[in-house]
Amino acid sequence: MTQKKATYIIIGAGLSGLTSAYALYKQGKTDILILEARERIGGRILTKNHIDLGATWFQNHHEYLSSLLDDLQIERFHQYSQGKSVLVYNSMAPAHYFENDPSYPSAFRIAGGSSAMIEKLAAIHKEKIHTNTVVSNITTTKGQVTILTNNGTYEAAKVIVTIPPRIATQITFTPELPETLMEAMENTHTWMSNAMKVGVTFANPFWRKKGFSGTLIGQISCVTELYDHCSVNEENYTLMGFVNEALRDVSAEERKTKILAHLKKYLGDEVMNYLSYEEKDWSQDSYTASSNIKSIYMSPRYGNSKFQEFYHDGRLLFSGAETSPIHGGYMDGAVFSGLNAAKKLIL
Ligand SMILES: Cc1cc2nc3c(=O)[nH]c(=O)nc-3n(C[C@H](O)[C@H](O)[C@H](O)COP(=O)(O)OP(=O)(O)OC[C@H]3O[C@@H](n4cnc5c(N)ncnc54)[C@H](O)[C@@H]3O)c2cc1C
Repeated sequence: MTQKKATYIIIGAGLSGLTSAYALYKQGKTDILILEARERIGGRILTKNHIDLGATWFQNHHEYLSSLLDDLQIERFHQYSQGKSVLVYNSMAPAHYFENDPSYPSAFRIAGGSSAMIEKLAAIHKEKIHTNTVVSNITTTKGQVTILTNNGTYEAAKVIVTIPPRIATQITFTPELPETLMEAMENTHTWMSNAMKVGVTFANPFWRKKGFSGTLIGQISCVTELYDHCSVNEENYTLMGFVNEALRDVSAEERKTKILAHLKKYLGDEVMNYLSYEEKDWSQDSYTASSNIKSIYMSPRYGNSKFQEFYHDGRLLFSGAETSPIHGGYMDGAVFSGLNAAKKLIL
């Protein structure tokens, strides 16, 4: 029989939830269950066919993520940026080219793709992760938290909710959460929930051979940002980037045609010899995006102090990238909040 009771239940098997579980495990707290709505783990981290369709990059100042990668013995490597990069700033003007300054090191990527980190975190307690388990109600009575899901009822002494705050407003909490907290949840944009990514794989990195970095930038273009996305061992040759949101409402076929034509125009005919093409529109994913989506690419304010408090008689905590006062929205914020929630839970 599936275990439906645990001292600690974590809702969401994204980076934050899995980091909390990892931190609890390291403190000897192994009576844990993790409930995940999707059929897969990772949340907004998704590496498919060697392409990071969700989170990809981090910087030196993302210290919590860096330490976690060190702890998990996962390597990092620099984003490839050698050669000519292309800037398209006007549809009628010729393309502009620029070279990256080598004295400014580029961002880091995670060897094996960002999902390598998720897989390693999850490996410790794989049997404790219940996927396809959508939480709908959280009720606290008589010193116990009862969690209602499509997969039955679960009981816990303490619970961490790592669902993006705006999505977590869809859960019925009993007793009701304070209005100020509900407002903060509703007003917290889920970082990158409006993003659409594309990845195209090739038999060889033809752009490198032609002196291109693979970087192609242009807010007016079908692909607003494109980067070299070859794997660390250079066995997989990929270009990956962000699709212009204006292409969201055209058919998938038309979008693909336009994107490939755009890449061909600036990087060469070799683009049409692609091996595979992947797309992911996060705005269509109901476990990340809500219907009242806004297009926000600037970092909104994250880490509302309401997310730092305990609720339901000290049994309920919120975590996740958007709750983090440090690098909110980013993977580093997800790790920081996950570590912090685990620490608070066992104090
Ligand atoms: C396209 C894209 C590009 C990005 N690029 C970067 C980048 O380059 N660098 C960077 O640092 N960050 C980036 N990010 C942000 C990064 O992905 C997030 O900061 C991080 O993954 C968030 O982790 P989390 O665990 O807080 O949330 P999530 O990953 O959203 O995890 C929450 C989990 O809760 C689950 N869930 C939702 N509802 C329920 C429910 N009712 N019941 C049970 N489970 C539920 C979800 O399925 C999900 O698995 C990007 C994100 C996207 C989408």
